[in-house]
Amino acid sequence: MHDVIIIGAGPAGLSTAFWCDELGLDTLVLEQAEQIGGQLHRVHNPIENYLGVKANNGDELLELFAKDVESAEFDLWTQAAITSVDLKAKRISLASGETLQSIAIVIASGVSPRRLGVPGENEFVGKGIIESAARDRQLFAGHDVCVVGGGDAAVENALLLADVCPTVTVVHRGKKLRARREFTERLQAVHCITVFTESVLTRIIGDETVAAVEIRRKAGIKPFQLAVRGVLIRIGVEPNTQLFRDQLETDEKGFIKVSSTQETNVPMVFAAGDVSNPLAPTISSAAGAGATAAKVIAARLSAGR
Ligand code: NDP
Repeated sequence: MHDVIIIGAGPAGLSTAFWCDELGLDTLVLEQAEQIGGQLHRVHNPIENYLGVKANNGDELLELFAKDVESAEFDLWTQAAITSVDLKAKRISLASGETLQSIAIVIASGVSPRRLGVPGENEFVGKGIIESAARDRQLFAGHDVCVVGGGDAAVENALLLADVCPTVTVVHRGKKLRARREFTERLQAVHCITVFTESVLTRIIGDETVAAVEIRRKAGIKPFQLAVRGVLIRIGVEPNTQLFRDQLETDEKGFIKVSSTQETNVPMVFAAGDVSNPLAPTISSAAGAGATAAKVIAARLSAGR
């Protein structure tokens, strides 16, 4: 029996675990991946807005986190595949056959990139699908590319690609870009970027590598093809709640609803990080939410002991 089991070892899960350890709680972290870090592995641009810390990318920030993780005494299991969770009973079953029990559970399972679901999206991974402009743009220097999405991530990536690509076509389904003004103003000043609003990408085409995309514009009569060598898709994220979404309250997009103490509607089940924070999915919010959950759990347990 553990005091706390934390699901996920990204910034939220690690921060929760670090604080739980500080507060003397018996803590186990379960991470399904081989490595800790969660979404930090997908941050390829500099981290400049975490107070007091600067890092060139997520992996570099993770190295700083890892020093604290190594010196803490909580248990951490990587490659821990969870098959089922009973939130009310606080019981977790693993693919290895083990069943774990705790007094509190903290869900810090993060989010995954949303997918378009169009032909070619899987086929051209590593063959023209651009994962990150910050990391990969030199591979596409001198080539025309397309970016799908209208939020901060899509526009930020389009701006980075425009430094090295002759044309960047942004395909956005809405009437207006949703990205912050700082990004859209910069975008308007870059002449090689074209924005197709009210448009959807319907197919990625190629042979060995991406050669073109098919786009359908609301105003157009039929889809047309645009020759590009790279496609970057940034259409938001989806919360990783498959294991428990029927057992607790979520919003209409599946993000877990929490109170100001990070508790869900199931007593002693908490959530921290992006899985419960669609409005401010930042590393600092995740770390703060983890600290809050840990403090509240420690106070509850000491009151009950
Ligand atoms: P957002 O959810 O903000 O935007 C997603 C975009 O994708 C929207 O424009 C949406 O269109 C579009 N979209 C969603 N689903 C589909 C679909 N099925 N087909 C086509 N288009 C679709 O996600 P982001 O990834 O841009 O950003 C996530 C968070 O990360 C935000 O909070 C953002 O501020 C933050 N971020 C911060 C950065 C920074 O600080 N430098 C950089 C990047 C991201 P519609 O508008 O029509 O709904």
